[in-house]
Amino acid sequence: MNYEKMKFATKAIHAGQEPDPTTGAVMTPIYQTSTYWQKAPGDNKGYEYSRGTNPTRKALENCLAALENAKYGLAFSSGMGATDAVMKLLKPGDEVITGNDLYGGSYRIFTKIFANYGIKFHFLDLSNPDIINKYINENTRLVWIETPTNPTMQIIDIESIAKISQSKGLMLVVDNTFASPYLQNPIDLGATIVMHSVTKYIGGHSDVVMGALMMNDEDLYKRLWFIYNACGATPGPMDSFLVLRGIKTLHLRMQAHCANGRKIAEFLKTHPKVDKIYWPGFEDHPNHAIAKKQMRDFGGMISITLKDADLKETFRIASSFKVFSLAESLGGVESLINHPVTMTHASIPKEEREKAGVVDNLLRLSVGVEDVDDLIEDLKQALS
Ligand SMILES: *Cc1c(COP(=O)(O)O)cnc(C)c1O
Repeated sequence: MNYEKMKFATKAIHAGQEPDPTTGAVMTPIYQTSTYWQKAPGDNKGYEYSRGTNPTRKALENCLAALENAKYGLAFSSGMGATDAVMKLLKPGDEVITGNDLYGGSYRIFTKIFANYGIKFHFLDLSNPDIINKYINENTRLVWIETPTNPTMQIIDIESIAKISQSKGLMLVVDNTFASPYLQNPIDLGATIVMHSVTKYIGGHSDVVMGALMMNDEDLYKRLWFIYNACGATPGPMDSFLVLRGIKTLHLRMQAHCANGRKIAEFLKTHPKVDKIYWPGFEDHPNHAIAKKQMRDFGGMISITLKDADLKETFRIASSFKVFSLAESLGGVESLINHPVTMTHASIPKEEREKAGVVDNLLRLSVGVEDVDDLIEDLKQALS
């Protein structure tokens, strides 16, 4: 069946998954094996060793590719494993253009790992895409963007950045973790590679750490598969199964995240304790028009700064939730609250952080799919 041509909900449930040829099992079996029998050396059924290929992971990768309207998918043992593989396409002397409001771990791997291997990074405010033209030179190879950004929910115009990247022969990688493939498909807008922390919305249940890359170009897929197999950050069959299971409700979960997110954003907007609120669904959000153009809805990620709150007061509020859990990560069915300065963004220097609006009294909410009335009650009591 060619599920790739079908609509999102059908692909989420079926893409990459055929009944098991040996038993007819409708759900993809967990092929818990590291190695595969060969009739004679080299005479195998396409599987040799599970670092490189495993049938459960393969089914997941085909499903992931379909969700992003891509030909190829690769699953990694974490989002950072996927990022690491992309950067290994580069050589010393190469340059990368990226945003100044990145996931903390992306900033850390760029500045603390790959900068040591002679790769140069430019961290720019990409709200005006044309700025990248000023930084492109003969060594530039790759543009890396994230939208909505974390945690201030800025929206970057994927199509405009893709046009500039294509005209200069650069690869464009989009970290699509915050939007999820349900809300945004960067390959349709001209991106070369989509990267995901599958740990978040795609897995959706806060029980797996995983990453993914999706792409259309066969040669690029082969180069990335080579890195994946050679370096070995590939996930096991049990985690692959859990993510396949999680994806079956991705569209339903995202609809609920978006509906709850909207109600909570509206509740917080007029709350006397809230100073700034960051959510791309508001018409007065600076990039609302671009968000509307490139996303199907606005998601359940919301950040707020607290009025007249120092670090101590911010900590008190962050610790007083009963339904929201104070925890890192996002995108699961359960609501989470996070203090970026001391949690997800602690690896970014203070000056860099504050330039991007990541201040001491900022809290980030990952709105889950619980009953929204209970979530609003919890916010009321915690902010009182
Ligand atoms: C979590 C996250 C990552 C890293 O993914 P892991 O699965 O934690 O390794 C990368 N980018 C964004 C936007 C994230 O939220």
